[in-house]
Amino acid sequence: MPLIEILSDDLINKIAAGEVIERPASVVKELIENSIDASCHEIKVDTLYGGKGLIRVSDDGNGMDRDDALTCFQRHATSKIKKEADLFNIHTMGFRGEALSSIASVSRMKIVTSTIGSMKGTLIEIHGGVVRDTRDKAIKGTTIEVRDIFHNMPARKKFLKSNSTELYHIVDMLTQIALSHPDKRIILYADEREVMNLPVASGIQERIAQIYGNEFLKGLEHFEETTHEFSIEGFVSKVGNFRKARSHQYFFVNQRPIKDNSLRHAIYQAYKDILPESSHPLFFVYLYSSPSGVDFNVHPTKREVRFYDKDIIYNMLFHSIRDTIEKSRVTSYESRVKTHQHEAINQHSTFYNTQHAAGNTQHTANLEIRESPSMPYSPMRHFIYGGDVFVAYPDKDGICILDHHACHERILYERLRDGVKLTPHQLLFPLQVRLPKKEHSLLLDHLDELRKMGIEIDEFGMDTFIIRALPLELDDADMVAILSDIATHFVDHTSLSPVDDVRDIIAKRIACHSSVRGKRVLNNEELNQLLRDLDLAKNPNHCPHGRPTRLYFSLDELRKMFGRK
Ligand code: ADP
Ligand code: MG
Repeated sequence: MPLIEILSDDLINKIAAGEVIERPASVVKELIENSIDASCHEIKVDTLYGGKGLIRVSDDGNGMDRDDALTCFQRHATSKIKKEADLFNIHTMGFRGEALSSIASVSRMKIVTSTIGSMKGTLIEIHGGVVRDTRDKAIKGTTIEVRDIFHNMPARKKFLKSNSTELYHIVDMLTQIALSHPDKRIILYADEREVMNLPVASGIQERIAQIYGNEFLKGLEHFEETTHEFSIEGFVSKVGNFRKARSHQYFFVNQRPIKDNSLRHAIYQAYKDILPESSHPLFFVYLYSSPSGVDFNVHPTKREVRFYDKDIIYNMLFHSIRDTIEKSRVTSYESRVKTHQHEAINQHSTFYNTQHAAGNTQHTANLEIRESPSMPYSPMRHFIYGGDVFVAYPDKDGICILDHHACHERILYERLRDGVKLTPHQLLFPLQVRLPKKEHSLLLDHLDELRKMGIEIDEFGMDTFIIRALPLELDDADMVAILSDIATHFVDHTSLSPVDDVRDIIAKRIACHSSVRGKRVLNNEELNQLLRDLDLAKNPNHCPHGRPTRLYFSLDELRKMFGRK
């Protein structure tokens, strides 16, 4: 009795599906790549339950006639290559002829398609790889519906995550496709709600702006370089615009998203001298190579590629980005020097004018400043808790009473506003915050401001944001309340005037909310630290709303109060 058997077609397809189809987002990727290969202009994606219930991709591309429609979901069926030599001259996204057969074998699939100009069309239903129905149905382009993915592979289905996580992967996948194909209109509906709607863009710059907003784009520097073999182009972090996580790092080779550690290394090397520890640059890098310079037939999902001469690409990438950053540093340094000179001149003339006008009285102000020089170190103090938010301590010739809640607000407000001394850390469980549609879209325009405050926040689709990192200072703050409070502010003040400092508004609201510490009695060491931090603040004597942070009673005043004049 022989031990060896040839596997059944169904099993072979399921094995292939294991490689190509990991989750609903992989189905979206494969279907969209087919739409792109069919020269479409517009792609619409509908999903239900994070794609687990339904994924429907509709395009306005070339479509298929009946024969092709009946062949396309067979194993190794492709119109994209015919002979071995074609493998080294790939101009399409697909070529392996295994996506539709893999998807068909693990789902209930429906294909509706018509060729351009044809009045006739075809509808085919396939369940678990077996054709159930074939009918006439005319349509523009092709629509492929995939329902109940992995319904016949329970072991696989178990690995799928929650609807929102699967949707996150779909949005992520669509973002990559959108970034690499700005000439396509891309629409995503999830559970019948519009999540993404990107019109045709003129190029990558406009596409990045459509997805992330113009503010985001301002933090990026454009670079490009061409040799006779390759051309490379993209947008990378300007000096100082770094992130605490590896977010928004994209690398495309001939419009395919690729993962390549050594090329990522080239980019990090370009930033070597200016990248703070545990910071990461943003990058959107587009490499174009003739098909003979790169082999895409390495990985079933084509996430990895083999370059015939990797060193050339590594060096080109490294030099091009480094030179661009170097140039922009010089320019920004020059402009800083100019502003400083300008400020110096202005300050000088203001000083002159006030002195001139105020005459001798000017001395009083100067004297005051000289009388309270900042201490080289802060003495260890002993505090007396006075109840509520009040703490008292002896100071110089008198007594000082702190509202430690207000102090905390002032310190945090200045740190957020100036983006300094914040120590962001990754959250163990990213936080999802869902907001009403209007608030969501208003906040969307200000994500960059939040990021500058050490809050790693991203759009998550479905009116939801995801927060992956927070400054330690906001560790136990109620971020849901904070974000909705900020959003409400923008709802109430939709027409911000150009002089409104958005950052200042946001910093104030966060500081005001995260006064959790105000409700807790701080110990002596914490109070000493609070005072040290307060002394470093630019305006230590008032909270962001103008209330005093501390009141000082001199011995003279105390004597007066006690009627001891
Ligand atoms: P591949 O893309 O590697 O050729 P697929 O299994 O993804 O393999 O698709 C098989 C074939 O079906 C394609 O080669 C193409 O001819 C046809 N096809 C699939 N999707 C579409 C579509 N949206 N429009 C037109 N033709 C399509
Ligand atoms: Mg394909």
